[in-house]
Amino acid sequence: MSLNVLDALRRRFGDAQVLQGAEAAPFEHDWRGQFPGRALAVLRPRDVAEVQAMLRAAAAFALSVVPQGGNTGLVGGSTPDDSGQQLVLSLRRLNRVRALSRDNLSLTAEAGCVLADLQAAAAAQGLLLPLSLAAEGSCTLGGNLATNAGGTQVLRWGNARDLCLGLEVVTADGQVWSDLDGLRKDHRGFNLRDLFIGSEGCLGVITAGVMKLAPKPRSRLAAWITLRTLSDAMAVLAQAREAFAEGLSGFEAMGAEVQALWDAPPLPTAPWAVLLELSSADPEDVSRARLEAFLGEELQAGRLQNAVLSQSQAQFEALWALREAIPEAQTRAGGNLKHDISLPLSALPAFCESAAQQLQTLCPGLRPMVFGHLGDGNLHYNVAPPSGVTLAAFRQQHGDAITQIVFDAVAAHGGSFSAEHGIGRLRREELGRRLDPVALGLMRQIKQALDPANRLNPGRVLPAEQPRAGATAQPTNAGDDQRYCC
Ligand SMILES: Cc1cc2nc3c(=O)[nH]c(=O)nc-3n(C[C@H](O)[C@H](O)[C@H](O)COP(=O)(O)OP(=O)(O)OC[C@H]3O[C@@H](n4cnc5c(N)ncnc54)[C@H](O)[C@@H]3O)c2cc1C
Repeated sequence: MSLNVLDALRRRFGDAQVLQGAEAAPFEHDWRGQFPGRALAVLRPRDVAEVQAMLRAAAAFALSVVPQGGNTGLVGGSTPDDSGQQLVLSLRRLNRVRALSRDNLSLTAEAGCVLADLQAAAAAQGLLLPLSLAAEGSCTLGGNLATNAGGTQVLRWGNARDLCLGLEVVTADGQVWSDLDGLRKDHRGFNLRDLFIGSEGCLGVITAGVMKLAPKPRSRLAAWITLRTLSDAMAVLAQAREAFAEGLSGFEAMGAEVQALWDAPPLPTAPWAVLLELSSADPEDVSRARLEAFLGEELQAGRLQNAVLSQSQAQFEALWALREAIPEAQTRAGGNLKHDISLPLSALPAFCESAAQQLQTLCPGLRPMVFGHLGDGNLHYNVAPPSGVTLAAFRQQHGDAITQIVFDAVAAHGGSFSAEHGIGRLRREELGRRLDPVALGLMRQIKQALDPANRLNPGRVLPAEQPRAGATAQPTNAGDDQRYCC
């Protein structure tokens, strides 16, 4: 049957649109090689009409479809399973900027546009597309919207959902729903846009989106501050919010074990370090004076140990480069077990203390490597083995228990086991175990309504319908390894 299907697809769409074998290989595994699969073929539509036709063809042949953008996702949502029967639908050829409006402060672009290219298109007009993540050189707008991406500017601008004014989506049965008017207020019934954002390719294929732009800030400054405790960091965050309101555009934290990843620390180290960013419409000298005064007060109040303020654009970039180098530095250091969690800001110190205590009891000497978007309450709570123990042995012996401790502590403090990376395949069973059954039931009904034949990204996000008899809460760290980023 496969050959007939492939022949039919090639006849219908042309050889260049239907990849197989070596040509398909780069689309069959994620960039970490953690979720490899085998596709029947990779389809590469050039426009919305071809997306429609391909989804209809998939339905006609009863094949499932895995939408894929830049393939930088971290939870196994964008690669095929190993059946050799799924079609990967790569959106990368839909890469046109359709409109950039200074008046409306909006950018309408197709799903396959690379995020960094869109940032550059906005910057060329003196505007800012305020979505920023370390994968921005490869990830695509469609993927950003399908995962509701977060990143380093959420504190000021929100995540992809908050920045999106509208979508164009091809439904599982090949219809186009277009809502690209770019309205800031629009209440015509249920909000379909919000349904598709963050649905990880399970409800529809995003083909374009309208994103909010902002005037480019006149000044951007970064300060590296060090602190004795996480509670001090939270207090400084509260003060900074009061002092700068929306000007506070970044508040990224790094624990001591993360700072120890640098062979020769280029900056003062401490139990906690924070990279604080201030963006403002004020000229740089005004912003600098305000930030200096703020840091001086915080030093005097004893909340800060040290503060280093960027003196030039090069220093601003160098400070951010240190933050963005953490994922790779962890890999070089042997890797660790990953958890992308979020908590109410007020609960972060208690959570960290409780989790660290329980983990040390389980395995004395293990090293929590904690960093992330502290201002958003989003931490990458990673756990490295004690010195001299390999990650493989550590995971084998303690991986499941560690993940259970971390996620139980998150739940006990009112947080979420999945902050910004999504569910995909990696966390779907966790979702089944930990999500409110009512929420899960509603999600299943939505999936059933929009994709009754379960063609779009089956096996992602929603857990298997029937838990295995006698199944107990088994955490899912088996899927994490040293190549897993963040
Ligand atoms: C170094 C690094 C740093 C990262 N930092 C962050 C971070 O700070 N914050 C953050 O949120 N994420 C981060 N990520 C994760 C990742 O970059 C984001 O999830 C990103 O939004 C994925 O975009 P993509 O185009 O690569 O999507 P893909 O990986 O191709 O796909 C991701 C999911 O979206 C679906 N999908 C893709 N395109 C479409 C479409 N057009 N229509 C419908 N469904 C679609 C896929 O099926 C899959 O389920 C990071 C990743 C890396 C490698």
